[in-house]
Amino acid sequence: MLKIAVIGAGPAGLTAAYELARRGHEVEVFEASPQVGGMARSFELWETRVDLGPHRFFSGDARVNALWHDLVGKDFKMVDRMTRIFHGGEFFDYPLRPMNALARLGLLESARCMISYAGQTVANRLHSGKKESFEDWVVAAFGRRLFEMFFKDYSEKLWGIPCDELDVDFAAQRIQRFSLGRAVLSALGLEKAIHKTLVHRFPHPLEGAGIVYERMAARIREHGGVIHLNRPISGLGKDGRSLQQTDGSCSSYDHIVSTMPLTALCRTLPDLPDGLLGTLDRLDYRNTILVYLKVDHPDLFPDQWLYIQSPEVRLGRVTNFRNWPNGQTTPGGHSILALEYWDNADGDLWNSPDEALVRLAGEEIRRIGLLRGAEIKDTAVVRVPKCYPVYRKGYRVWLDEIVSHLRAHHPHLSLIGRYGAFKYNNQDHSILMGILAAENISGEANHDLWDVNTDYQSYQEGGVRKPS
Ligand SMILES: Cc1cc2nc3c(=O)[nH]c(=O)nc-3n(C[C@H](O)[C@H](O)[C@H](O)COP(=O)(O)OP(=O)(O)OC[C@H]3O[C@@H](n4cnc5c(N)ncnc54)[C@H](O)[C@@H]3O)c2cc1C
Repeated sequence: MLKIAVIGAGPAGLTAAYELARRGHEVEVFEASPQVGGMARSFELWETRVDLGPHRFFSGDARVNALWHDLVGKDFKMVDRMTRIFHGGEFFDYPLRPMNALARLGLLESARCMISYAGQTVANRLHSGKKESFEDWVVAAFGRRLFEMFFKDYSEKLWGIPCDELDVDFAAQRIQRFSLGRAVLSALGLEKAIHKTLVHRFPHPLEGAGIVYERMAARIREHGGVIHLNRPISGLGKDGRSLQQTDGSCSSYDHIVSTMPLTALCRTLPDLPDGLLGTLDRLDYRNTILVYLKVDHPDLFPDQWLYIQSPEVRLGRVTNFRNWPNGQTTPGGHSILALEYWDNADGDLWNSPDEALVRLAGEEIRRIGLLRGAEIKDTAVVRVPKCYPVYRKGYRVWLDEIVSHLRAHHPHLSLIGRYGAFKYNNQDHSILMGILAAENISGEANHDLWDVNTDYQSYQEGGVRKPS
């Protein structure tokens, strides 16, 4: 039996802890916040359980699905996905559908998009070189005109850097590889197979995404595991096998699983070479601010969430909990909206007081016409630090330098999770990393955790690369 510490009680940390505890290992989880679930937590707001923005669960991996369904049981509903892009005062279906786009853009603009796409298709044939930036990848896939209309402004709001400085990994992981040609055929009914990324239904727990992790925490305790809440870890002890808590205490373990930000943990490695400190400084994260509004209207718009592409507002995405199983029962016919803004730690929005953020959110949502004249009855602000690892061009090289050091010198340390492994994970990727880490630690497998594949297409098809 091994003694294992897990830093962080989000999906990755809890899954690792659960899988280890049920195999009989002695597990202790240290969570900085007062609650389990991490970024996928749910919380009570205005008599409704809400999530941190949208939390659609989807996995092509049988193990991840089995665990999720085992925990949720019958307490979920299938949701018919409706998520549109708001651009230039119009709603466009997302994923993009040619017939819908044609109707919204009009004949002239649609023709320009088709010409740009056709020109790009020819250019792709002539220059089939490797795409290095997000911009290169999207332009090659959709043509420049569609890139500028539907990808550029949203992505720049999200990441805070120009699209040509954003690594191609982001596109490969998050944007479906379907061609406009196939989409046209499918819209005309000439192509039968539905592309996997167009899956339109997903299950969502009646009590919100976070119930999965609350139930997982209960299971960990049933198996003798201990979860300490409000216990932030400041880093590793001098031997690299112990944990330093912020109250100064230190205890040793056979293995440590960390899901806290990779940069913060690695800065405390006892043997970190000087050169790697500079490398760590180059890896940065983007923060999210969620402004929740309680609106006096039961039926503002039918989408679970909307992408706000429009460059005239800083608002990036709006979730309408009325259209999720956990938000349908908000009392008094109110709707709860969550408005998302993204910023750097030293940015003006991140450093604004809540009142200023609420003012901005109220003004912008009215400006783009989504409130339909309804009144805002109450507001709340939630800040989520470091939630997007920034895939700046070159980040892979910097990350690889750190990974090489960890591989060579720290076999008793597993770094997993979204900010834990600096990987743009969804819940399912973090759950999968937790499962695989537990198998490694228990000696059942030798997965390369740095190689868990979050490529959109592969993961949809259940692809975890097996260790060679
Ligand atoms: C706005 C938003 C929308 C999202 N939408 C979706 C979606 O639609 N579908 C989807 O699947 N996923 C979505 N995600 C992503 C999903 O929430 C994450 O992939 C998932 O929560 C990552 O799990 P994790 O365990 O890797 O990290 P986290 O959930 O971040 O958990 C890490 C935990 O570590 C704790 N911690 C940090 N530092 C320390 C420390 N020093 N000591 C102790 N504990 C520490 C944190 O408090 C946290 O609880 C979304 C995320 C956000 C922010």
